[in-house]
Amino acid sequence: MISCRAKNIPPFIVMEILERAIAMERCGKDIVHMEVGEPDFDTPECIKEAAARALAQGETHYTHSMGILELRQAIARHYRDKYGVEVDPERVVVTNGTSPALMLIFASMLDPGDEVILSNPGYSCYPNIVEFVEGKPVEVRVHEEDGFQYHYDEILPLISGRTKAILINSPSNPTGNLLKDRAMREISSLARKGLYIVSDEIYHGLVYKGKEHSILEYTDHAFVINGFSKLYAMTGWRLGYLIAPEEFVRPIQKMQQNLFISANSFVQRAGIAALTQAGDEVSEMVRTYDQRRRYLIPKLREIGFRIAVEPEGAFYILAGAQHFSRDSYAFAMELLENASVAVTPGIDFGSGGEGYIRFSYTMDLEHLKKGVERLGRYLEKRSRG
Ligand code: PMP
Repeated sequence: MISCRAKNIPPFIVMEILERAIAMERCGKDIVHMEVGEPDFDTPECIKEAAARALAQGETHYTHSMGILELRQAIARHYRDKYGVEVDPERVVVTNGTSPALMLIFASMLDPGDEVILSNPGYSCYPNIVEFVEGKPVEVRVHEEDGFQYHYDEILPLISGRTKAILINSPSNPTGNLLKDRAMREISSLARKGLYIVSDEIYHGLVYKGKEHSILEYTDHAFVINGFSKLYAMTGWRLGYLIAPEEFVRPIQKMQQNLFISANSFVQRAGIAALTQAGDEVSEMVRTYDQRRRYLIPKLREIGFRIAVEPEGAFYILAGAQHFSRDSYAFAMELLENASVAVTPGIDFGSGGEGYIRFSYTMDLEHLKKGVERLGRYLEKRSRG
């Protein structure tokens, strides 16, 4: 009765860990959460006020399927001011989060069997969404020794007559690493072969060292995916957007009309406030994440995790744990049951993530300290047998 499409889509493992942790909490256990990639901060006040104002003014109706023009203009201005690129607001489509944007892009680009090159490890939903629309994910392994950079030489042999796109995500989930200018340049040169570059820029702004680049600085043969969930602490608001090459705008608009109609009207007003008024609050959040990052990297090393290259962005650390266990799922469950610390197993991010544990620093420093202490104590006991 149930379709193969629904039967075959894998679960999002991190959500399963979270659900187990919540069940333990219901039984009275105190759990330290370092698993979910969700900011602990409340949404900045100016953003909430803008939404409340829009609600009070009766902005409770459908909007243009591509989003209200003022938000699309604000997004175009944001890309101009931050990256020096010109974006026509008519190429911007506002969506209910970046996840629907990914779905719309792949559905607009892939016929059954068409291929998308993805990094392994990489964000687990990418291959699942590609497969959901009957495309084929083709994975290129990236390695910790060089900060999980894509290697042009390793991508080239994977390109076939069916390759439509290559996806990049910098700063990356789960590695927290930034693609260097050179890797961006090499990858964008693939656009000359007719490939589209799909750049998930959702962690832009969450950068502590170095500088992130938008794909639009390199090529227009590209899609940008971005959203408000992470940088503005707006996960529950469900607001994101895509910037598409001109020829894709109309097909994507038609899908948006049929599948989602439009993004939430008053939430779009909140998006304008985020882009134009929340600078100070964002800087404060970024400063706090960086403090946590600088605390956690040496502490995780001290208790035995391996971090070959320090992550420079997002709010994740992908730490080597092969010497503790080769089965990251079993190890994450072991840490949850025995140390009451919830972490994400690397296998959630593909075979290249096996043997790793992803730590998320989206909890306050006190909480993180408690987590590290618990892990340290448990791992020491474990090593004594
Ligand atoms: N892309 C990446 C890399 C992510 O980590 C996430 C959230 N975990 C998303 C997209 C989806 O974000 P949202 O739908 O909340 O915008």
